Amino acid sequence: MLAKPCFKKHISIFLFALLLGPLFWFLSFELGNSSAFTLTTPAEQEDYVRPGLAFFYLQQDWPSTLPAENNVLFLVNKSNSLETTYMPENLVSLSAYVPVARNDVLFKDVAAEAIKKIYLDMQKAGISDLKSTSAYRNYTYQATLYKNKIAEYRKKGYSLASATTLAEQIVVPAGTSEHQTGLALDLTTSALNGRLVEAFSETPAGEWLAENCWKYGFIIRYGADKTTLTGCVWEPWHLRFVGLPHSLYMKENSLCYEEYLAWLQSSGQYTYEAETGNVYAVYYTKNLDEFSTTNLVTEVSSDNLGGYIITTQIIPQILPGISLMDWQMLITYTVLGL
Ligand SMILES: [Zn+2]
Repeated sequence: MLAKPCFKKHISIFLFALLLGPLFWFLSFELGNSSAFTLTTPAEQEDYVRPGLAFFYLQQDWPSTLPAENNVLFLVNKSNSLETTYMPENLVSLSAYVPVARNDVLFKDVAAEAIKKIYLDMQKAGISDLKSTSAYRNYTYQATLYKNKIAEYRKKGYSLASATTLAEQIVVPAGTSEHQTGLALDLTTSALNGRLVEAFSETPAGEWLAENCWKYGFIIRYGADKTTLTGCVWEPWHLRFVGLPHSLYMKENSLCYEEYLAWLQSSGQYTYEAETGNVYAVYYTKNLDEFSTTNLVTEVSSDNLGGYIITTQIIPQILPGISLMDWQMLITYTVLGL
């Protein structure tokens, strides 16, 4: 007996909301245009009308400022080094995410979460022989590895110059190692006795990673066909986290990170639709203060060269010309109005 008046009330609220809707839509349109970001790529926005995704996006809390800058897209190589004191934030113990050779291996949290997903999916595919021998290395430790490798060649009778050249093919000088970013890790298997060798690419884990790691934000950083560009020998065991959609874009276009960044710097931006349906717009700028977008900004990273890469997701539209931000405001104001 009590249900009937309650039902009637809900119907009244619904009809009231329908009547107020157009009014609040006009209000929200104006307010939407005065938000912190301005639309810089209207053509891209209109390309993506996604009624199916609308409900999901309406549940999101829309950020009004750019997220804090991180260093996930740092370029580190022999020409672009890190400060002696550079230490990544949010390091976690890698042993909680993937099997490790030593328990004191640290890794950046966002990359650790991604490698955990990789290992879980790899196990679902029937592969469990995988372990990490190394991830984050601080400057001092890298300097020791470098020095020891040169000493090893000196003992074999090489001159200092020859020993240094040979050592640098295996261990890079301190400050130029990606391991200092906390975003790179070396992987091997028990079948290989924990060695970091090219044969890793022929193991089930190595093959699975070469095919799939890109979907999780990782890249095989030093490819066999890119040695002159990366300055490193082929290392199928060395994975670097860069996040999405960057890894996918590099895989699809056969680019190493040096090529990808150079291309992004020259083109300034690109739009990418992933298989998941997510549509990304990626921007490059030297001046973060002047950057603006109405897209959902997921990440802002320095490139370690004085520029910034802004990763965004394009906001789907329910109808052409009406962004979800407008609809979100419409619903908010309608509910508030009640
Ligand atoms: Zn490595």
